[in-house]
Amino acid sequence: MLIDLEKDGVQKITSSVCVVGAGAAGISMALQFESMGIKTTVLEGGGLTYPKPGTHDLYDGELADKYYPLAASRLRYLGGSTNHWGGWSRQLDDFDFMSKPYFDVSGWPIKKSELQPYYQKAAEICEINNFKASHDGTLKQQVNDGVLSWQDDLFENKFFVFSPPTRFGQKYLGDLKAANHVTTFLNANATELILEKNKVIGVHAQTLSGDQISVQAQVVIVAMGGLENARFLLNQRNEHNQFGVGNQNDLVGRYFMDHPGFRPIDLMLPTGMNYRRHAFKGLPVMPVISMTEDALLEHQLNNFCILLNQKKDDANLPSNYGQNPWLKGSEKYGTYQAQFIFEPSPCRDSRVMLSQKKDQLGWPKLKLDWRFNDRDFRSVERVIELLTQSLGQYHQGRVNWHKQFTLEHIAEIGGGMHHGGTTLMSAEESQGVVDSNCAVYGCQGLYVAGNSVFPNIGFSNPTVTIIALALRLCDHLQEQLV
Ligand SMILES: Cc1cc2nc3c(=O)[nH]c(=O)nc-3n(C[C@H](O)[C@H](O)[C@H](O)COP(=O)(O)OP(=O)(O)OC[C@H]3O[C@@H](n4cnc5c(N)ncnc54)[C@H](O)[C@@H]3O)c2cc1C
Repeated sequence: MLIDLEKDGVQKITSSVCVVGAGAAGISMALQFESMGIKTTVLEGGGLTYPKPGTHDLYDGELADKYYPLAASRLRYLGGSTNHWGGWSRQLDDFDFMSKPYFDVSGWPIKKSELQPYYQKAAEICEINNFKASHDGTLKQQVNDGVLSWQDDLFENKFFVFSPPTRFGQKYLGDLKAANHVTTFLNANATELILEKNKVIGVHAQTLSGDQISVQAQVVIVAMGGLENARFLLNQRNEHNQFGVGNQNDLVGRYFMDHPGFRPIDLMLPTGMNYRRHAFKGLPVMPVISMTEDALLEHQLNNFCILLNQKKDDANLPSNYGQNPWLKGSEKYGTYQAQFIFEPSPCRDSRVMLSQKKDQLGWPKLKLDWRFNDRDFRSVERVIELLTQSLGQYHQGRVNWHKQFTLEHIAEIGGGMHHGGTTLMSAEESQGVVDSNCAVYGCQGLYVAGNSVFPNIGFSNPTVTIIALALRLCDHLQEQLV
């Protein structure tokens, strides 16, 4: 059932689960609870279409030093940010789950194999038809045209696949309307957890015009996106939680991570390289250059990938470049701009905080201070050195390194708009906000869904992993609730 709180005032509702936020995570969980027959209330802050200015303004905030598009990188209506996502999809690598001694916060407290059963279902929800092929070696074996064949055991080709992209609000509207066990409220902005000491028993929500609803629930799942999850927990300050719920160790909001993208090098390679999105057997794929897990560990590197874009203006490359006897790949060479997407290592001072300014509902806005560790740039430099050696040694091409990035250049570095790492998952309460089942430490009945729980984010876009983890949470809760 779907109810617009602005039109149909409902003051109180009781359910087993309350999911706050109807984006990729929230809608996937709502449909899963429906299939499990678990009575669920979904509170969605926006309506059915692009939000009115007042609603979208709730996503505005303050920035510390580095620019970040706080409002433009999120959408506050049914379907959340899937209303403008690009559909790029890829599992995290085993490497991303591993403990790496050279990261401050390192590895996940769960193994990738625990998520594996949920990834395929997540791919189906996102309507990705070649997901399995992207990680079972099929694409790696079969996509040979337009990619480098690596001769050493350092570099390898990895693959993104694509959702159409599925707009969750449109695609699953009918299912939400038809649901028997799930009631979704629109224009219902969650403002406050209802707590009994350190146990959650519900959520208050309200419209911008002041209509209110209280949801009583055994379990509350916060699924409001990576920035808002942290802001919401920080805003829950009371006598038992002086600094916000789950924040007893000053960790809520810390370790904010996004995927930085920048272009420090050009590659001179044979023409026809196809490290771009293209159709393979009728389905979209995108090969990227990356490294083997062993090489990443041996050289103590952050995970990364490189996309190539052939430059139209090749004035700097002599037409007889390919006749260089050292180059054995082709007669014709071109210059490719190489775009790095790399995994940031978790940085404690990169964080979401509360601003002094308040939103229209009277709650402190968020303030974002996005930072990096210097080691991330050293890691990129080492990758470039190794790539230069590898391409040279095997006569494949050359690297033109035109810009060395340092912390001073962070203003020039953009993000993927993937808001990770503000409510980290850890096996130790002292080091995380949620445990390995996404339960908030110190607050019984409260859970977090979304990439805010990712301790390491790899280089893969997050949505399929967000959904896989959310589906795993549903299974975990089913044992308690049915
Ligand atoms: C331009 C762009 C392109 C992207 N491209 C890709 C891509 O190619 N691949 C990929 O994997 N990811 C991509 N992403 C990221 C992707 O959109 C997110 O990973 C995904 O939407 C996160 O899902 P979520 O459910 O955690 O949060 P969201 O989708 O952000 O959903 C959160 C929901 O919570 C609601 N909400 C917020 N606050 C409240 C409140 N107080 N009360 C009630 N409801 C609330 C919001 O209205 C929203 O519906 C992209 C993002 C952007 C901005």
